Amino acid sequence: MKVAVSGAGGRMGSLVAETIRSAPDLELGGLYDSKAIPDEGVSTDREVVRGSDVVVEFTIPEAVMGNLERWRSMGVHAVVGTSGFAEDRLEQLRRSWGSGPPNCLIAPNFSVGAVLMMRFAELAAPHFKAAEVIELHHDHQADAPSGTALNTAARISVAKPDQVRAVESTEIIDGARGADVGGVAVHGVRLPGLLAHQEVLLGNDGELLTIRHDTSDRISFMAGVLLAVRKVGTLPGVTVGIESLLGL
Ligand code: NAP
Repeated sequence: MKVAVSGAGGRMGSLVAETIRSAPDLELGGLYDSKAIPDEGVSTDREVVRGSDVVVEFTIPEAVMGNLERWRSMGVHAVVGTSGFAEDRLEQLRRSWGSGPPNCLIAPNFSVGAVLMMRFAELAAPHFKAAEVIELHHDHQADAPSGTALNTAARISVAKPDQVRAVESTEIIDGARGADVGGVAVHGVRLPGLLAHQEVLLGNDGELLTIRHDTSDRISFMAGVLLAVRKVGTLPGVTVGIESLLGL
């Protein structure tokens, strides 16, 4: 299976390229990025992706939709880690991508621990009055909230649509209560020293459940990326998350 990488000059994309190169059953295809890195074979020509079976996309939210349109027209399956897929964007993608093949897998998070955190939060949500999400990332993270936080909050909101707080606090300063994702507040922290972390707080009268996940190295995403690359061809059209591939 030949695997191309889009965003190959970035932190995630370059690690994905290295991981594909060392996988015995995979062949590294074209490397595409908006800036060329000739020494590493990274090109600014999207045509380098043509002829691969799968492209792994770790770019920026502003670029991902245009790239996906192109990969679809080339008949290449897409495995996408780029964040920014709120429900309206997912709807737009489902419409434009249609049914497969090729197929498209959008994963808000490729780490197994983070996927379990989201599932645990979703399971716990109906048993608590309200939940809030605090996501903490390194200070080079270009967008907020993180895809994981968006997805976690959206799933909590579906599992427990009536978030019940005794008082809905008025914001004296804009943003003090975080972003509202389906009634679930999402707070973003950006600091040097962090990588990717998230806490889900679920409150009831007299008790609080905290579910926390910490990523200490980007290597944690690679097992999920490889699983997605190997399985994307068996999925239908557009799939969100690697849960089904993990049997969750
Ligand atoms: P990054 O280091 O900034 O890498 C993004 C790369 O995409 C950069 O090299 C950037 O080039 C390039 N790029 C920009 N526009 C492009 C275009 N039109 N076509 C192709 N490449 C383009 O960021 P990162 O840390 O690798 O993260 C990438 C994305 O993955 C972010 O959205 C992040 O939130 C997400 N992420 C997801 C997971 C997950 O498990 N799903 C895990 C970690 C990160 P320039 O520098 O020239 O702009």
